Amino acid sequence: MANKETILKLCQALKGIASAKIDTSSEILHHMSDQIWKNPELSSKEEKAHHLLTSLLENQGFTVERSYTGIETAFRATFGSGRPNVCVICEYDALPEIGHACGHNLIAEAGVAAGLGLKAVLESSNAPKGMLTVMGTPAEEYGGGKIDMIDNGAFDGIDLAMMVHPAVSDILAPGYLACSQFSVAFTGKAAHAAAFPWEGVNALDAAVMAYTSISALRQQMKPTWRVHAIISDGGTKPNIIPELSKMELFARTSIKSELPLLVEKVQQCLKGAAEATGCTHEITQNSKPYYDLLSNKILLDLYKNNWSALGVEAPLTGSSSGSTDMGNVSYVMPSIHPKFRVGPGNVPGIHTEKFTVIANTPDAHRMTLIAAKAMAHTCVDVLTDQKLMTEINEEFKSSSV
Ligand SMILES: [Zn+2]
Ligand SMILES: [Zn+2]
Repeated sequence: MANKETILKLCQALKGIASAKIDTSSEILHHMSDQIWKNPELSSKEEKAHHLLTSLLENQGFTVERSYTGIETAFRATFGSGRPNVCVICEYDALPEIGHACGHNLIAEAGVAAGLGLKAVLESSNAPKGMLTVMGTPAEEYGGGKIDMIDNGAFDGIDLAMMVHPAVSDILAPGYLACSQFSVAFTGKAAHAAAFPWEGVNALDAAVMAYTSISALRQQMKPTWRVHAIISDGGTKPNIIPELSKMELFARTSIKSELPLLVEKVQQCLKGAAEATGCTHEITQNSKPYYDLLSNKILLDLYKNNWSALGVEAPLTGSSSGSTDMGNVSYVMPSIHPKFRVGPGNVPGIHTEKFTVIANTPDAHRMTLIAAKAMAHTCVDVLTDQKLMTEINEEFKSSSV
């Protein structure tokens, strides 16, 4: 028992060190987040954010690898050595036209804040064994940067990963969906729409028929499945039978094992529309599939207790969300991805201009640092009690098959 008490005391002291470092760093953290917010950059084009984050981490004494694994705006910052190697994740891409409407400037702030807090822990006189990685992951919104990073070996040698996402409300284990993003081009034959319509093959008709076939398909879809599509190209002028039409589509399921079936059903709709109209069609995959999110229960429990000690009581689940490439990380190592509320009162939904404004307010920064402390404290728990890492791994092995 004495041993348990000693560990508990040490753990509390180390958590205090992490929190103190985050508090004393709050000014530089806010400044960095503000700079990312003021310079929104699209997926894979996050050059300024990449520079800001890597410079700050290098100045703070981390070993930094820029353009990590050959991905230009990815990075890895490490401190310490040995195992476990705990990883906190930054995202920093924005949305077209509405800037940081997903608040990824705050995700970057939380990742760096947790990193600074944990580095102070690993530098302290009673430092536990282990290593810390702050991973910079670009292109979350479009392209699935983490999926390419996994394929390039960026996550090799890491024992667990965590990140937090700003949101409307606090949720420990949000239900993120598996997602496949693809597009289709229908090719027909142009003709004068009044003089020789019988000589044309109408590619717009193929797109419209595909769209309505998908609408009919929805009657037989599971309640947790989602398909959404737009017609991104429907011809040029009404007096020319459209020779080319294009659609962009997302198919989502609650677990990744169901995704191939839904994708096949949707692609049958595309094929049927092409055949009915006499068009040819070509499907292009726009990114590798995003997986649903597996939240490691033991890790989540630790986070819940730490967050609660910091004054935040969050429910386990909430309504299902969109999709995240963190889902793919959660299939290769124990992971968590809690969402945190960014303001008092009614917070507008993400991906809106109103949320962009909220993502750079004092309240949002304050709540970001609380979530960052909860991440740092959760890592302290694992680093100071290595039995936990074994249990976390056992749960991961049994849940990710
Ligand atoms: Zn988003
Ligand atoms: Zn996001």
